[in-house]
Amino acid sequence: MFPGTDTTGGPPRRSGPPGRGGPGGKGRGRPGSRPRRQESDFTRRRMQQDVIPDDLPESVTLEQPASIKDLSLALGIKQTALLKKLMNHGKLANVNSPLTEEITDILSVEINCEIILEEPKVLGSSLEELDKLVDSEEDLTLRAPVVTLMGHVDHGKTTLLDKIRESSITKSESGGITQHMSAYRVDKGDAHVVFVDTPGHRAFTSMRARGANVTDVVVLVVAADDGPMPQTEEAIEHARAANVPIVVAINKIDRAGANPDKVKARLAELDLAPVEWGGTTEMLEVSGITGEGIDELLEHLSLESEILELKANPKKNAIGTVLDARASTGQGNVITALIQDGTLRPGDAVVCGPAYGKIRTLRSTSGENVTSAPPSTPVEITGLNDLPEAGDRLYALDDAAKAKQIAEERQQAKAKSDRAERQKVTLEGLFETIDQAKVKEINIVLKTDVKGTLDVLKTELSNMKTEEVAVRVIRAGVGEISESDILLADASSAIVIGFHVTASDRARNEAEIKGVEIRTYLVIYEVLDETRRALEGMLAPSVAEEVQGSIEILKLFRSSKLGNIAGCIGRTGVLTRNDKIRLVRDGVVVHEGKLDSLKRVKDDVKEVREGFECGVVIQGYNDVKPGDIIESIKIIETSRKFDVSESLSE
Ligand code: GDP
Repeated sequence: MFPGTDTTGGPPRRSGPPGRGGPGGKGRGRPGSRPRRQESDFTRRRMQQDVIPDDLPESVTLEQPASIKDLSLALGIKQTALLKKLMNHGKLANVNSPLTEEITDILSVEINCEIILEEPKVLGSSLEELDKLVDSEEDLTLRAPVVTLMGHVDHGKTTLLDKIRESSITKSESGGITQHMSAYRVDKGDAHVVFVDTPGHRAFTSMRARGANVTDVVVLVVAADDGPMPQTEEAIEHARAANVPIVVAINKIDRAGANPDKVKARLAELDLAPVEWGGTTEMLEVSGITGEGIDELLEHLSLESEILELKANPKKNAIGTVLDARASTGQGNVITALIQDGTLRPGDAVVCGPAYGKIRTLRSTSGENVTSAPPSTPVEITGLNDLPEAGDRLYALDDAAKAKQIAEERQQAKAKSDRAERQKVTLEGLFETIDQAKVKEINIVLKTDVKGTLDVLKTELSNMKTEEVAVRVIRAGVGEISESDILLADASSAIVIGFHVTASDRARNEAEIKGVEIRTYLVIYEVLDETRRALEGMLAPSVAEEVQGSIEILKLFRSSKLGNIAGCIGRTGVLTRNDKIRLVRDGVVVHEGKLDSLKRVKDDVKEVREGFECGVVIQGYNDVKPGDIIESIKIIETSRKFDVSESLSE
């Protein structure tokens, strides 16, 4: 790693999983995904010195968005030197902090070099203007609601969707359907509803993480003979985090064991009380096999457009979102998109993510060519020069040349925007983010080892608020921090807090890739104190912990002298003899301490790497079991934070 990148005080990044403090705290971003920029010897030498060179140019021009790191690279100044200058002005920042007007002003003076920020030469922003245009009331008409089915596996989502579809298509159409579509529109009598078929919750969440919220209503499918299951709860959390209303479809009512009332009672415990019992959640009983109740469900869903006042302007150019894209031999790029506003027609010029083109064919999702697609219509289009991604926005423009220009500029800007990844919320960065008025709520995914502490922490955290910002616990559960926790946190810009629990390896990897912060604690007071301090912008310097490696206990050997010797195998990274260790059983931390001995065969060793066997004895702790994981923890003193506290206490 080249000097100067490590200003947050952490050690060089390694492939091992991040620990407390999470990846958000140390070197956010995708490890290894970008080759480091080659620096000249001169620049490298200079960056090793923590001083501002006196031979800087009079001015430097950077294209927005630019960070402190970009400035450091452009001028060959060590990042800590820049951060220190800011701290002298009482301004907390990190290497990824954007160059705001205030920061730019301070630094321009401090380093005696004018920092000029240029608007990126992308016309894309003019597209977002299109989203913001306010339509006149007389142009607006009601549009059909867009619905996503979610629920536990095997509760009948696919069967229900197929039945709905079957009941609504005419015979002539059915011949044309050859493949599974990611969306379709049902027009049956007065009922108009669009169904978006996102396999599992992952698609719903990852679309949302990209800022694309196409769903107006979530239909939660719950089997009448089974009741709410873990994925049902997960679906509820996702829908709530996205502020999307839920309609419950109690499915499989044809089954002998069906007990809809019991299901309703169980759902009421999850804060989904049925309307008939005085609650606010509509619950309809259906069968995906016999078709019973499906007309009522469609009818109810179609009413949502009035209830939710879903309106759009069919008179303007189309705006939509990509649901799916594939390359087809013969047809070129085939894109499934949902038209959300305006009307799309064959021949329209469109720009869509990095792609552009004129609509060559416009088909309904049942395969028929259509001459127009009004709001709330899923369509299949061809004619684009490239494949966009699910979640990319589609805009029709009057001017084909402009569409081309925007798409080309977007492609050039892509490399740059990859770098300026979405800035994630971290506890340390929280106050800064609040400062920039981006956050009004701090979302937390909370996992604990037992229900008792879960309830206490959930209540205490939920009650925390200052004038500007409140805490919102979007998921609270018992057990290890899982991949799905990270997914939810990513989509909701949440911080994951683990109390007496750790993250699974997969969850850690996912967190590292997505830049989600995981913080783990052993003392309730610390959780509350750090969160409160973060809210107040006074987070005290804390010592971060990073998991360097882990080993798994395979076998126990009893020794009359030493107690239990654990025969282990290295699972990830490196376990170091003298570092702190954490004993984890089923994702729950059962002990923290040190090792008494670490041996390979008969020799004492300093460390054990992934794949190697070893024998360990834990100091003062004998209750080890096969299957337990021992994690090696490095304490990382983040000097930046100590500096910060000093400057604050002065
Ligand atoms: P998904 O995983 O939620 O998409 O569930 P599927 O649609 O694959 O359904 C799982 C199983 O339940 C299949 O064997 C279906 O035939 C069955 N099933 C789904 N809906 C019903 C229903 O309303 N009644 C009955 N009896 N079986 C159903």
